[in-house]
Amino acid sequence: MRKIRLIILLTIIALPTEHILAWGATGHRIITQVAYDNLNCRARHRVDRILGKRGIVYWSTWADNIKSDTIYADSYDWHYQDFNPGMTDSAVIATLTDYPKVGGNLLRAMDSLISLLHQEPNNADALKFLIHLTGDRFCPMHTGHLDDLGGNRVPVEWFRQTRNLHWVWDEGIISAVGYSYTEYAEYIEHRYANQKRAIRRMTWEELLLHNYHFTEKIYDYQQTWNGNAFVYVYNFATDMEWQLYAAGIRLAMILNEIYG
Ligand SMILES: [Zn+2]
Repeated sequence: MRKIRLIILLTIIALPTEHILAWGATGHRIITQVAYDNLNCRARHRVDRILGKRGIVYWSTWADNIKSDTIYADSYDWHYQDFNPGMTDSAVIATLTDYPKVGGNLLRAMDSLISLLHQEPNNADALKFLIHLTGDRFCPMHTGHLDDLGGNRVPVEWFRQTRNLHWVWDEGIISAVGYSYTEYAEYIEHRYANQKRAIRRMTWEELLLHNYHFTEKIYDYQQTWNGNAFVYVYNFATDMEWQLYAAGIRLAMILNEIYG
């Protein structure tokens, strides 16, 4: 019943099937480990009770894994929110309240899930979706361009394999760095600790604008990149790590508010 209620809660829009995935499993686990480490005691205890001890990390990829289950087919477009190039800041910010009618349902889905969890904190499916989608929100190609389906239609040669820009940001850079999720989470929590307060203070408007302009920077870079994946990783690994860290810190804030 809860599954059905959750699905009814959100508007359904038909989707192109190319629009896929999100941060790969490693990225979602890094984000969720950072979030778990930043939960207050009460929130951690309550989330553990719902998802199992440290289950939050295990379930962080569930929303991608169940896309083949027809019960959850309507959640497909919750994972992204596409934008157009050249938007003004005010037009970008307006999408937070006036949800776009095409190009995904991520913003609406997150707002709906947060509202639902305030009413039904033990709704495990809603919690699993929220954990995952908060991560997606910070993945640059999940706020990519509508006309190329968030970079899915931008082919990229990556270490002699044909990939696409979306995949590079889901998995390519993280895989090239080569840490396990626990190693990477530990590393970025140490490296970016001095930015925690600033990230916590950012408004959702500021975070969305940051994401939008960062994504535009990635598209611009694509025009001049020499095709060397080593250079790409060198130029963007730090930015990507900030995105992962910020996602984890903001997820912890959301969960502390609901469960703390
Ligand atoms: Zn996703």
